[in-house]
Amino acid sequence: METLSFEKHDHRACIAKSLEIVVRCSKEAELQFTPTRKKVLEILLEEHRALGAYEILEKLRADGISSQPPVAYRALDFLVKNGFAHKIEGLNAFIACTILGKAHSPAFLICRMCAAVAESQPENSREYLDDTAQNAGFLIENTVIEAQGLCPKCQRDSVG
Ligand SMILES: [Zn+2]
Ligand SMILES: [Zn+2]
Ligand SMILES: [Zn+2]
Repeated sequence: METLSFEKHDHRACIAKSLEIVVRCSKEAELQFTPTRKKVLEILLEEHRALGAYEILEKLRADGISSQPPVAYRALDFLVKNGFAHKIEGLNAFIACTILGKAHSPAFLICRMCAAVAESQPENSREYLDDTAQNAGFLIENTVIEAQGLCPKCQRDSVG
């Protein structure tokens, strides 16, 4: 189970690797990874933290990119639809995917203090849901697991 985001790591390498995978996947799937879509992904990759659409717009504006809300929303739509980013429902915010290039049903650990988010891929929860759904004759289309709490840093800070 990966919870990379909360651990110290070479984040520049992390960004470079993510961009590389997204560029490659886009090419393979013949998706148009336009400069605006790339910029929005770069904004999401800056930190492992969930960003609201409004914050993303502000950053686009600061970069001098034409930042009409529909442009940002379309870019976010593209990233989420293709699995390059995820929407965190509980925060109404977005996060870059850290398990790129693999089919996954992510689970998110969300810090309620600093909005840091770690994405992980639990092994058993999906199986459990599949069994439950099967018993109920239910067809699962999408699973979202979001846990809210405190990240290691905020736990240390709150102890003082
Ligand atoms: Zn990183
Ligand atoms: Zn993901
Ligand atoms: Zn935190």
